[in-house]
Amino acid sequence: MSEKIIYVDNAATTPTHGKVLEAMLPYFCENYGNPSSVYSLGRDNRQAVDHARGQVAKALNCLPQEVYFTAGGSESDNWAIKGTAHKLAAKGKKHLITTAIEHHAVLHSMAALEREGFEVTYLPVDENGLVSAASVEAAIRPDTALVSIMYANNEIGTIEPIAEIGAICRKKGVWFHTDAVQAVGAVPIDVQAQNIDMLSLSAHKLNGPKGIGAFYCRRGVLPTTLIDGGAQESGRRAGTENVPAIVGLGKAIELATSDIASKAAKLSAMRDYVIERIMKNVPEVKLNGHPTKRLPGNVNFSFKACEGESLLLFLDMKGICASSGSACTSGSLDPSHVLLAIGLPHEVAHGSLRISFGVQNTMEEAAQLCDILENVVEEVRRRSPLWHKNNNEINK
Ligand SMILES: *Cc1c(COP(=O)(O)O)cnc(C)c1O
Repeated sequence: MSEKIIYVDNAATTPTHGKVLEAMLPYFCENYGNPSSVYSLGRDNRQAVDHARGQVAKALNCLPQEVYFTAGGSESDNWAIKGTAHKLAAKGKKHLITTAIEHHAVLHSMAALEREGFEVTYLPVDENGLVSAASVEAAIRPDTALVSIMYANNEIGTIEPIAEIGAICRKKGVWFHTDAVQAVGAVPIDVQAQNIDMLSLSAHKLNGPKGIGAFYCRRGVLPTTLIDGGAQESGRRAGTENVPAIVGLGKAIELATSDIASKAAKLSAMRDYVIERIMKNVPEVKLNGHPTKRLPGNVNFSFKACEGESLLLFLDMKGICASSGSACTSGSLDPSHVLLAIGLPHEVAHGSLRISFGVQNTMEEAAQLCDILENVVEEVRRRSPLWHKNNNEINK
């Protein structure tokens, strides 16, 4: 049995690409100037930041001036949501629309606004995790300030009809934000063609460093600022620029988006192999998320009578890093809000497993993963009173 780790939790974070690290390194000890300084050591850093801004803009098809660097996806989400609410409240717009399956950076920002007196509509999704564009249109009111709907879900991988929703919001004159943290680098994005006003992205989900992200904000869309201070980022996001990380984000997004089709083909081959094999070899298993409108690297299963946390522990002992659908690891025993929103009963949501492939994974790893997973599910079920009860009932 090899001791090698198989890392298939790329939706949680990804390893930094070697070329990204290489691009970042000079900006720590050699080229350490402050981009706001006038001497050449500072100017070099200004240029590096501008270059990275151009790389992000190219990936999204927007203007460099529409890209702001932040500390990651969470900050960008907070900025879009709280900044828009606070800006448009002055015009009497105190209603926001989102979905039940958003990342907590969105959901908890919305909850914070509710405590301030804003009203939020949480749109339901269907059994595949899809929100309907028609339900978005129906929910928009004269006092709606913002529609915020994620591009692709981080747990079940479902890709939402973003262009359709964007067209509706543009027609109705409502600002549209999308949390695209899981989508950038995985599927092609064009903020102009898709009528996206604001977008959140994060470097560490696309083989860049942690703690750096970007916020795309269309010209003329002006949410209030979150971080006040110096005049960095056109006066809209204060703080000395994290130059090495910004350079890393630029390089990572360039690499991730330069050859999206072949990357997606590689990831979806591993995804489809695992789905096919596990569905064939393991009894009582359900695939969560949309069968086709799904992220290339995402697999999410529910195994009947097979507790997710036990699965993870057994997999970990075999060197596999995956993730469970429940949030037990984060200190809560509640099953995932996403799995509940697609209609899974509590006990099924508890038996869920997310496998998320990344560019560094191989088909051999996918095959090894299946070998191990098939055994582990059997092992966990052998110890599960629920499983035996269930089987006895079937045998009666
Ligand atoms: C990871 C993630 C975030 C948070 O991004 P950070 O950079 O870790 O703050 C937000 N939304 C989604 C969908 C994510 O997957």
